[in-house]
Amino acid sequence: MVLIGPGGVGKGTLAQRLIDADEQLWLSQSWTTRTRRDTEDGNEYHFVDRPTFERAVADEKFLEWAEFNENLYGTPVPDAPVGRDVLLEIEVQGAEQVRQKVSDTVVFLIMPPSLEELEERLRARGDHEEHVKFRLSSTPRELARGRELASYEVVNDDLGTATGEILSILEELRQRRRDPSKKD
Ligand code: 5GP
Repeated sequence: MVLIGPGGVGKGTLAQRLIDADEQLWLSQSWTTRTRRDTEDGNEYHFVDRPTFERAVADEKFLEWAEFNENLYGTPVPDAPVGRDVLLEIEVQGAEQVRQKVSDTVVFLIMPPSLEELEERLRARGDHEEHVKFRLSSTPRELARGRELASYEVVNDDLGTATGEILSILEELRQRRRDPSKKD
């Protein structure tokens, strides 16, 4: 299960809510070469330098990885316990790789209620001004690519509502997995 969507849309918080609400989900911790933000406590990623990341790529430690905003991000090959559903919160190039490698991948595109709201959220999390501008300029492209890839679109206006919507889709998908005759 993959969450994609423009920066600042609230994917991280949403992923955390899903994990708290659904014990069958297993959240992957990504690696990144970007520096930690002041608002982060250090558990958001496994923060590494570029040579360490590149060694892990060479050692085939990643299910997918991508360069985004001049930083590298990657999902380690998941080692989730049997029976758990893996949840990834990644950008669109990575989601494309996962979809190619894992046949039952389901991609959710998380949408902002509006571009104005997105801008406010990016500023609120402490991103530099030029970064905010850059992220906003790439949003339409990210959304267009995301739409091609995603099976579901969920607007993250209210966190609780968006979480509930994803959980009910997930439950439906699990039912179909248990009983494929329910496929439409
Ligand atoms: P941020 O720097 O804002 O935390 O993340 C930037 C983007 O990288 C976000 O869209 C986030 O979802 C994505 N991202 C986080 N982890 C990974 C990963 O492991 N792989 C890929 N491809 N993208 C990731």
